[in-house]
Amino acid sequence: MVTPNMHYGDLKDSYLFYNIAQKTKAYLEANPDKRLYRMGIGDVSLPLCDAVIKALHEAVEDQANKESFHGYMPECGAPFLREAIAGYYASRGVALSPDEVFVSSGASDELGDILDLFDRSSPALVIEPAYPAYVDANVMAGRKIVHLASGRENGFLPQPDDSIQADILYICSPNNPTGAVFSREQLQAWVDFANKNGSVILFDAAYEAFIEEPGLPHSIFELDGARSCAIEICSLSKTAGFTGTRLGYTVIPSTLERKGMNLNSMWVRNRTTKTNGVSYIIQKGGAAVFTPEGQEQIHANIQIYKNNAKLLMEALDSLGIWYCGGKNAPYIWLKCPNGMGSWEFFDYLLREIQVVGTPGEGFGACGEGYFRFSTFGSPEDTREAARRLCQLLGK
Ligand code: PLP
Repeated sequence: MVTPNMHYGDLKDSYLFYNIAQKTKAYLEANPDKRLYRMGIGDVSLPLCDAVIKALHEAVEDQANKESFHGYMPECGAPFLREAIAGYYASRGVALSPDEVFVSSGASDELGDILDLFDRSSPALVIEPAYPAYVDANVMAGRKIVHLASGRENGFLPQPDDSIQADILYICSPNNPTGAVFSREQLQAWVDFANKNGSVILFDAAYEAFIEEPGLPHSIFELDGARSCAIEICSLSKTAGFTGTRLGYTVIPSTLERKGMNLNSMWVRNRTTKTNGVSYIIQKGGAAVFTPEGQEQIHANIQIYKNNAKLLMEALDSLGIWYCGGKNAPYIWLKCPNGMGSWEFFDYLLREIQVVGTPGEGFGACGEGYFRFSTFGSPEDTREAARRLCQLLGK
């Protein structure tokens, strides 16, 4: 009889979003006259920008003509998109060869698939609170996970120390759920730690485009020594509204080697075996993001989410509630007031003002007592949610 991957039995039930959905459904059934203000979602609400839509239409037309039709695309990505992404890095002072850029269907896919590069005996470090996929992908692979809790005392930006025994280091900056961003010095400490120990950093840069403060690193490759210890995984989901269109990219330096194996070459081998590339149409749409017109348009959309963040931050400031994030990330991470627990605060907001957020406990045990607001909702709903928060908690 076949033996299934028994590690699936070690997964904890992912009850976070299920629980939220159940609780909001029950509330609406009991209160059909009420409407909800959804500040919990991690999905975008604005449509794709004009430059992307135009490129997608043109690419569909290309597929209608024998001369411009494309069949299978190169597994690691179309040269036009790999070059456009390398050009984007160059504009920030990071020199990459297009061969170091791998086009993907999104960061989630890559965060799981990339583990193929590592032996199961190599433990993974997850800084918590964390995006849940890091833990789950490693549990499925049967890998030992080292949990590093972070907290308010270090601004949710912990630093490495010699007690950490892990070979794969997940770093997400700007962070989901806390919105915290590592400074150059803080990130450099992780790069130095990885080089010293022969570890590899998996740097999740899904929210880099939300950084507005000058001097904060958008890419790990802005740091000295990162080319010998890091892989960067990025996504157009939040940057450019591709959550439903699906496109991302992964950067693996040609200089990244461990135990005589070159990780860039290994990934070429992996991709050419396990994928047949991302669709021509979607890659054309993605390339439009990196044009001057596309950049201007996506940043106009990001600004709308940032204005939402400002509304929520102003409300929290006026209430004297501690929070981080919001400035350089689309998430605000706050301390639940009056000593409430995460789910207690969730129920309270739902019941009293119909505002839905995400309980921090769902991102790891150290998230208990905290709460996440997303800024991806509509400006109207965000304004109303902020007003209701002030009214309820300002009493
Ligand atoms: N990484 C982080 C930190 C995220 O928050 C998300 C999505 O919310 C992803 C990766 C997944 O992105 P994608 O839509 O490209 O799969």
